[in-house]
Amino acid sequence: TPVIGVLALQGDVREHVAALAAAGADARPVRRPTELDAVDGLVIPGGESTTISKLADIFEMREPIDKRIAGGMPVYGSCAGMIMLASEVLDGRPDQRGFAGIEMTVRRNAFGRQVDSFEAPVEIAGVEGEPFHAVFIRAPWVERVGDGVEVLGRVTEGPSADRIVAVRQSNLLATSFHPELTGDLRLHRYFVELVRAA
Ligand code: GLN
Repeated sequence: TPVIGVLALQGDVREHVAALAAAGADARPVRRPTELDAVDGLVIPGGESTTISKLADIFEMREPIDKRIAGGMPVYGSCAGMIMLASEVLDGRPDQRGFAGIEMTVRRNAFGRQVDSFEAPVEIAGVEGEPFHAVFIRAPWVERVGDGVEVLGRVTEGPSADRIVAVRQSNLLATSFHPELTGDLRLHRYFVELVRAA
């Protein structure tokens, strides 16, 4: 059974732990470098990327996470977690810093403010069945991807149609939306399989 941690500095940690456990992982919160050492993969949850960035420094997790990413550890970032995996952030705070993650540019709060949170169908390449009922909450979108970054999903309808909301770069996965909130386990299963294969 793959051991998968959820970075527990801030955000919807419990929902990801529950979804990962239901998807077949040994799931646990990770707050300390020693806890990170014990996991095969890591989820960075939704929340507030500026806060997660600050707490990553305070808890001395930045360097250990960057090292594990460099070593090939699979990481899945959702919403704020996607922002934390982006090499470039637009509309970020000047002092916020991500991990050494995916070669891409994301725009923070791109779809609008909290009141503009919305739901839309999203198809994910490599995930079978119905489109995801994707929930976006002050979500980022992806404006540029580098070579080696695979676009897995885009919004399919509405004013934000065609915006990139799911990407993968080798063992790094990111989505703008929150599959942990809808009871749809397909993305967590996809990530558990990625960790198992790594
Ligand atoms: N707007 C948040 C940020 O910038 C992300 C929102 C979320 O994770 N639901 O970090």
